[in-house]
Amino acid sequence: MTLIGANLQALRQRVAEVAKTCGRDASTVRLLAVSKTFGAETVADAYENGQRAFGENYVQEAVAKILRLRHLLIEWHFIGPIQSNKTIAIAEHFSWVHSVDRIRIAQRLSDARPSDLAPLQVCLQVNIGGESSKSGVAPQDVLSLARQISKLPRLMLRGLMTIPPASDEPAMQRAYFAQLRRLKDEVVNAGIVLDTLSMGMSNDLDSAIQEGSTLVRVGTAIFGKRQSK
Ligand SMILES: *Cc1c(COP(=O)(O)O)cnc(C)c1O
Repeated sequence: MTLIGANLQALRQRVAEVAKTCGRDASTVRLLAVSKTFGAETVADAYENGQRAFGENYVQEAVAKILRLRHLLIEWHFIGPIQSNKTIAIAEHFSWVHSVDRIRIAQRLSDARPSDLAPLQVCLQVNIGGESSKSGVAPQDVLSLARQISKLPRLMLRGLMTIPPASDEPAMQRAYFAQLRRLKDEVVNAGIVLDTLSMGMSNDLDSAIQEGSTLVRVGTAIFGKRQSK
């Protein structure tokens, strides 16, 4: 088995163990392999080891990989900041977008989604820690944005995503993830169906699963350290 295969196996086991300790079924936590900065061969390695969903941050880099790996049944997720001049490429090449944080971008993605593809699956990125360095909608604006986006014809709103302030303390990590879970509950209680909490990365996935994550986005723990761009 390749190193990536071994990492994936260990990670699946980890996810299953953590899910079990908090009384959750492991199948309710999806694993998104974040392959930004890694090449198509590396993605193919993970694919051969059973991984099907991959996350990318940079449109140009991602589209090159997507085209090269056309022959594989990969589900591609866009998780990076969205510039308005990249919305067409994103709408044409991805199944999911986790980083929608304003109506203007959502409208453009809906307009650009090709009619022969299923609606684009969307999560709203929430700036849960209110950090000026991070993108994301403010918590108090989530419900109103969710209402607007749920009306767009070519998008399907699935849930909320966050990248909380960095912390090595499980209690701190859990407090942020719990906030996102409560926000999702609020939106659901207002009558908008959401089934996804996209939260947890290599360093905080245990805390995220304990707080109800349904999708963890993991790069380093699968592919190793990224070279800085
Ligand atoms: C890079 C990235 C990840 C993966 O982070 P790791 O710490 O390498 O697991 C997850 N989510 C987003 C939005 C990212 O940009």
